[in-house]
Amino acid sequence: MTAGAVVIIGAGHAGYQLAASLRQHGFSERIVLLNDEGHLPYQRPPLSKAYLKGTGGPDSLMFRPEKFYFDQKIDLISDRAVSIDRAARKVVLASGASLDYGHLVLATGARNRLLDIPNANLHSVRYLRTLDESQSLRDYITEGQRVVVIGAGFIGLEFAATARAKGLEVDVVELGPRVMARAVTAEISEFFQARHSAAGIRIHLGVQVTSIESDGHKVTGVSLSDGRHMKADLIVVGVGVLPNVELAADAGLPVASGIIVDEHLLTADPNISAIGDCALFASPRFGGSLRLESVQNATDHARCVAARLTGDAKPYDGLPWFWSDQGPDKLQIAGLTTGYDRVVVRGDQAQAAFSAFCYRGGQLVGIESVNRAGDHMFGRRLLAAYGSISPEQAADASFDLKGALT
Ligand SMILES: Cc1cc2nc3c(=O)[nH]c(=O)nc-3n(C[C@H](O)[C@H](O)[C@H](O)COP(=O)(O)OP(=O)(O)OC[C@H]3O[C@@H](n4cnc5c(N)ncnc54)[C@H](O)[C@@H]3O)c2cc1C
Repeated sequence: MTAGAVVIIGAGHAGYQLAASLRQHGFSERIVLLNDEGHLPYQRPPLSKAYLKGTGGPDSLMFRPEKFYFDQKIDLISDRAVSIDRAARKVVLASGASLDYGHLVLATGARNRLLDIPNANLHSVRYLRTLDESQSLRDYITEGQRVVVIGAGFIGLEFAATARAKGLEVDVVELGPRVMARAVTAEISEFFQARHSAAGIRIHLGVQVTSIESDGHKVTGVSLSDGRHMKADLIVVGVGVLPNVELAADAGLPVASGIIVDEHLLTADPNISAIGDCALFASPRFGGSLRLESVQNATDHARCVAARLTGDAKPYDGLPWFWSDQGPDKLQIAGLTTGYDRVVVRGDQAQAAFSAFCYRGGQLVGIESVNRAGDHMFGRRLLAAYGSISPEQAADASFDLKGALT
């Protein structure tokens, strides 16, 4: 059991879950959850999906109402941490106040990677990470506008699908050779590219936006690296994120492409952990270090640290899983689909219901499913238990997946 207050910096998926799990595990000392956004802690995934479409108000995104924090004696403080004094075990806040901690948890997440080209600071060049950004886009987009989406990753494509459904003219510009190239197999990329194109979204691969044109106030278009120009009223940038590591680095903690933590999610300082999008964690399951950006990763990290701080320390061994809703299609990923050497398709691409089973050295490492929730749940259970089925079994539609779990 940790003695003294647990101070959590960042009230996103990871920070919120840690506070809630600590109380579930019977932690009875002070919990401080530092929140630097002007809202109660909220879920991000709907920001590029249902919320952007116009479903529900901000309350629909909140994890819990304000009363929850009061009832659970979680001190939800609206402030920003500006420095950490590790010797004195204090966090200094932007307001000038300071907080003593017994254990400190960095759940600082990530921020948008900004575009570094001329005119990128115009009002109609937008990003999509926070509730304020989603709200402002939701209020701004109207039928008939021309939007150029920069980046065909998950967020760019989710936004593109929503904008198209709302009647906007949508062009997506992507430097890579296929959509979501860093994250999914070619089978999944091709399917989604075809679906988005059929919905009227124009996708331009292997090119980048080199400048944004304006009339002095508003965006009027973009220039591409192949010399083309496109008209645009709005630009939405989805070119990835940068983990918020500066607070840790300034406190002398080792950072690389994330705050470096061991398999227990502890930093080099035994009184400081890091979880969620900001953490580069040692993974016994996969060997080496990983930094993942997903709700599963944030919440499972939080549960692991809550267990440790209440006397049940175990190395983190969560199975990664993820989802992305794009137009009518649901993509779900179980495991880590990188470094595979063979892909086997199960189901029917033409019917928009199939899965790509990814293998490395004959071992199943991950499953990417499109509108096949059963395959996804199978993959989560099988892979969590370090199980596998053969590529021949995966390809055989008559092979009973459930039977392989027993
Ligand atoms: C639009 C969108 C859609 C997404 N869709 C999906 C999806 O479909 N499926 C999925 O699995 N994942 C999705 N994700 C990713 C998922 O939301 C993130 O992986 C998750 O939010 C990570 O949680 P986190 O708590 O680590 O970080 P964050 O959610 O980024 O929270 C970190 C918080 O810490 C705050 N903070 C930072 N520095 C300080 C400081 N110094 N002091 C105080 N507070 C600070 C930040 O402002 C932020 O509020 C999506 C993300 C976005 C943006």
